Amino acid sequence: MSALRREIVETARRMNVLGINQGRAGNVSARARTGFLITPSGLAYEAMKPADIVAMGRDGTVRGGGKPSSEWPFHSAIYTARPEAGAVVHAHPPHATSLACLGRSIPAFHYMVAVAGGDSIPCAAYATPGSHALSNAVMAALEGRRACLMANHGLVAYGENLSAALDLAVEVEALAAQYWRALQIGKPKLLSKARMAEVLEVFETYGRPG
Ligand code: 13P
Ligand code: ZN
Repeated sequence: MSALRREIVETARRMNVLGINQGRAGNVSARARTGFLITPSGLAYEAMKPADIVAMGRDGTVRGGGKPSSEWPFHSAIYTARPEAGAVVHAHPPHATSLACLGRSIPAFHYMVAVAGGDSIPCAAYATPGSHALSNAVMAALEGRRACLMANHGLVAYGENLSAALDLAVEVEALAAQYWRALQIGKPKLLSKARMAEVLEVFETYGRPG
C-alpha cells in the first residue's frame, strides 16, 4: 500500500487527536498522479486502513476502493482550480464551526489571519453537504485563499501536502478560538487593509512562520 495512503489515514486520525474534529466528521484527500486519493465515507478513523482509501478521477469516477467521501466534489474542484494544492483537509472544529453557524467570517483581528492568503478568512454560503452547490460555494469563498469556513458546517483548508493542509486547518481553528474569546470581552480592533497588505507581503517574501 502506498505511503500516501498511510499518510492520509494518519492525517485523518490527527484531526481528532488535535481537537479540530470529532467522530466520523470531516475528510482528507491528497492529489495523485491522475485524480486524487480520498478517505471513504462514514468510516471511523480508528478503524480506517490504507486499503480503505478511495482512488478517484476528478470527474468523480471511482477507480478503486469503496464509497468515497460524500464531499469529493469540493476536493476535486480544489485540485482542478488550484495547481499548487497537493492535499485538502475538511473538518468540523468547535470554534470555527461555531462562528460558521452564525455565518461569520474571521476578519483581520490578528495578523495571522494572513496565513490563509488574504485579509480575512471568509465563510462559504450554506449548501447541502456533499452537493455540487456546496462545492461551488466553497470555491467562491476560497477566492484568493487557502482556507475558508463553511456556514452551518465547518472548515476546509488546503496546502502543498498533507501536513501543510492539516497545519492550516489547526491554525484557522486557533484563530477562530481567539476571535471568539476576543468577542466575549469587547470589540476586537481590526487591522487595516494596509497593515494586512504588509503582512501578506512578508508571508509571500519570507515564507510563512512556523
Ligand atoms: P464523509 O464521511 O462522507 O466524508 O462525510 C463527512 C462530512 O464531514 C460531510 O460533510
Ligand atoms: Zn463535513
